[in-house]
Amino acid sequence: MFNSLSDRLTATFKNLRGKGRLTEADIDGTAREIRRALLDADVAVPVVREFIARVKARALGSEVAEALNPGQQVVKIVNEELVGILGGQTRELQFAKQPPTIIMLAGLQGAGKTTLAGKLAYRLKNQGHTPLLVACDLQRPNAVNQLQVGGRRAGVPVYAPHPGVSSEEETPTGDPVGVARDGVAEAGEKLHDVVIIDTAGRLGVDSELMQQAADIKAAVGAHEVLFVIDAMIGQDAVTTAQAFNEGVDFTGVVLSKLDGDARGGAALSVASVTGKPVMYASTGEGLKDFEVFHPDRMARRILDMGDVLSLIEQAEASWDKAEAAKMAQKFAGREDFTLEDFLAQMQQLKKMGSMKKLLGMMPGAQGMREQLDQFDESSIGRVEAIIYSMTPHERVAPKIINGSRRARIARGSGVHVSEVNQLLERFTQAQKMMKKMAGGGGMPQMPGGGG
Ligand code: GDP
Repeated sequence: MFNSLSDRLTATFKNLRGKGRLTEADIDGTAREIRRALLDADVAVPVVREFIARVKARALGSEVAEALNPGQQVVKIVNEELVGILGGQTRELQFAKQPPTIIMLAGLQGAGKTTLAGKLAYRLKNQGHTPLLVACDLQRPNAVNQLQVGGRRAGVPVYAPHPGVSSEEETPTGDPVGVARDGVAEAGEKLHDVVIIDTAGRLGVDSELMQQAADIKAAVGAHEVLFVIDAMIGQDAVTTAQAFNEGVDFTGVVLSKLDGDARGGAALSVASVTGKPVMYASTGEGLKDFEVFHPDRMARRILDMGDVLSLIEQAEASWDKAEAAKMAQKFAGREDFTLEDFLAQMQQLKKMGSMKKLLGMMPGAQGMREQLDQFDESSIGRVEAIIYSMTPHERVAPKIINGSRRARIARGSGVHVSEVNQLLERFTQAQKMMKKMAGGGGMPQMPGGGG
């Protein structure tokens, strides 16, 4: 996401870097470049106009003129203003004092509401909540079924008007407002503390759809109305968002499909056009492809400053505590590092999600996008296959793996011998590094650290 915008902005800033003093012409030129980059990324015109005006006013002021590194100062200003148009503060769900908290999803058909319902339910369940999904999209054939599948995957129950429809042709009949009301009543009886209501969308905004959404909201007294918008829809995003803002007065925005090649304009326009915060980003079809939207971190990603905080959070969320403790022992040199540990490490990394996505959050990642694009996720699977083809003894004593053993392992895992060699080489390096860290006084001393 935001790849080309990010490239353009970083290229613009490169020209500024190292300049001792910025002339008015420098700042004009930079502002023009930024303006073009934003417009090409489909950011709404009024948003761009205001953004540029603010950046320019600040860049011409004393904070840049008096800065030690004026170029760097301009980047800082752009970063701060970007955080501003993305909505400023991070905003998470607010739970009702009196449960259940009722969350309703609204948006066009295909925006990603039903998919999001499953992800949100999964996230809330993992946080200790007891959500109930309610299927009120009675318009789209198969939507009820799709929600039931999502609910099963998330391990969250679904309240539906009837057992769902299996045929694509069939559309469940019934009154969505009534279903929503019954769903909330059911949640009350069964002590669910959160209700997530999936509603119908149309291919375009229409008044009947909007009325239905508003009726559901009023009937159940929804605490949060999340407007789900496909980040790929470009300039249309603004009119759609405005229509929903007027129609249902949503409380927050969810950007979906941010994993695509979207130019990202929707993401950058919706918050400032509607005055409502972007709360979540959906980045794929899997249950875990979903994150809290942090305007400050997103701005850093766009400006290729890296998003290390999100990276750490993902690691913490998926790291197995027992496994981590065991690994700490190995790091301390109290136990030998074996191929099984090596495999366990890779599996932990894999649990954090797509390697490509993880690497993409590193500072400077935009600059190595080509390598990232070529990163082969399946190589992790092949490493697993190779290690699984070894005997337990070979895994703890890799030194015994001679030529004929290598050939056998390659055959067993369906790879070329060279891949087995490569893996053993990488393992030896990792093992050496572990030894170095454990022995020789542990971590290298910081100069002047005083022990
Ligand atoms: P709804 O009509 O708003 O309920 O939309 P759906 O949840 O059915 O989503 C429409 C399509 O978009 C489906 O094929 C989903 O798998 C896909 N989809 C939803 N969210 C994402 C996302 O974040 N990334 C990608 N790549 N696809 C998504």
